[in-house]
Amino acid sequence: MSEAVQNNPAFTQRVFSGIQPSGGLTLGNYLGAIKRFVDWQARDIETIYCMVDMHAITVWQDPEALRKQTRELAAGYIAAGVDPAKSIMFNQSQVAEHAQLGWIFNCVARLGWMNRMTQFKDKAGKNAEKASLGLYAYPALMAADILLYHATHVPVGEDQKQHVELTRDIAAKFNHDYGVDFFPMTDPVIEGAGTRVMSLRDGSKKMSKSDPSDASRINMTDDADAIAKKIRKAKTDPEPLPETFEALKDRPEARNLVNIYAALAETSTDAVMAEMAGKQFGEFKPLLVDLAVDRLAPISTEMSRLMQDPAEIDRILAGGADRARAIAAPILQRTYEIVGMVGARV
Ligand code: ATP
Ligand code: MG
Repeated sequence: MSEAVQNNPAFTQRVFSGIQPSGGLTLGNYLGAIKRFVDWQARDIETIYCMVDMHAITVWQDPEALRKQTRELAAGYIAAGVDPAKSIMFNQSQVAEHAQLGWIFNCVARLGWMNRMTQFKDKAGKNAEKASLGLYAYPALMAADILLYHATHVPVGEDQKQHVELTRDIAAKFNHDYGVDFFPMTDPVIEGAGTRVMSLRDGSKKMSKSDPSDASRINMTDDADAIAKKIRKAKTDPEPLPETFEALKDRPEARNLVNIYAALAETSTDAVMAEMAGKQFGEFKPLLVDLAVDRLAPISTEMSRLMQDPAEIDRILAGGADRARAIAAPILQRTYEIVGMVGARV
C-alpha cells in the first residue's frame, strides 16, 4: 500500500459551495443555494462558502463592478443567515491553492468529458470560438474548489448537477491513476422546491444573474415595488390553478410561480395547490408578491446596511481565507507529493 493510502484521513463530512460574483444575487441563487447553505450551517458539520471570483472572470467583468459584486455577495450571504463565525466565508482568489489544484485537474479531466458540459454550450452559445479558455475549463476549477477541502456534500441548484458529477469523475480518475484513495466521492445535494427557479419571462430558461433582461429575475436587492411589478408582469396563462401540481406539467410558467411560492413558504407544492386550487393568476400573484416581499425585504435591508462598511466585509473575507488556507494547503501539498512534484512539503 502506498504511503498516501496509509495517510489518507477518514473523510469527515464537510460542506463546500460557492456562488459567482458575476452580477447581483437572484431569487434563484437564494432558494437554490444560499438558503440551503444556512440550513447546513445549523447542523453539526463544517461549512465552507466561497465567492468564486475566478469563475466570474470566465466572462468579462469590469474590475470595479467585480469588487462591488463580490462584497455584495458576501453581504448577501451574511444577511441571509450565513454566520462568518460558524461558516468559513471567503473569496476564491485569496486562496491560491484553488488555481494550483485546478491546474492538476486540467491534466486529469479529459476533453471528451468537458465537451459534454451543457453550461459551456449554453454560455458560449453559437459563438464558441470567441469564448474564453477559462469558460471551457471552468468545471475542472470547480472540481478543485470542492476537492481542495475534501468536501463530501455540495448544496447546489439543479443546473450544477453535471459539474458535481464531473468532480466525482475527476476524483475517481485521480485516485485510480495514482493508486490512492485520496479524494472523496462528493455528493451533490439538490433538495426542495427551489432547486430550479425559472426565468419570469420564459419558463424554459433558468433564472440567472447574468441574463441581460432584468425583468427575467427577482434580484435580492429589488424593493417591494420592483418585486410587485416583476411578478405582476411574469408570463403566465389564462387558466386557473388546478387541483394538483402534477396537472401543471405542461404549464412551465405557472409551475414556476407555484414552485417559488412553495420554496418561499417552506412548504410542499402539494400543500400550495391544496390552498390555491381554482384561483386565477390575478388572485395568486398578489399573494406571491406579499410572500416574496415578506421574505426578501429583511434580507435586502440588511445587505444595504452591511454594504455601508465594505472594510468590515473585507476583514471577514480575509479571516475566512486564512481559515480556508489552513485546510487547503496540506491537501494541495499532499496532492503535489502524490503527483511527484519535487519540493512538496507535507
Ligand atoms: P451566472 O448567470 O453568472 O451563471 P447564476 O445565477 O447561474 O449566475 P451561479 O453563481 O452560476 O449563479 O450559481 C450559484 C448557485 O446558485 C449554484 O448552486 C446554482 O446551481 C444556483 N442557481 C443558479 N441559478 C439558479 C436557479 N435559477 N434556481 C436554483 N438555483 C440556482
Ligand atoms: Mg450559473
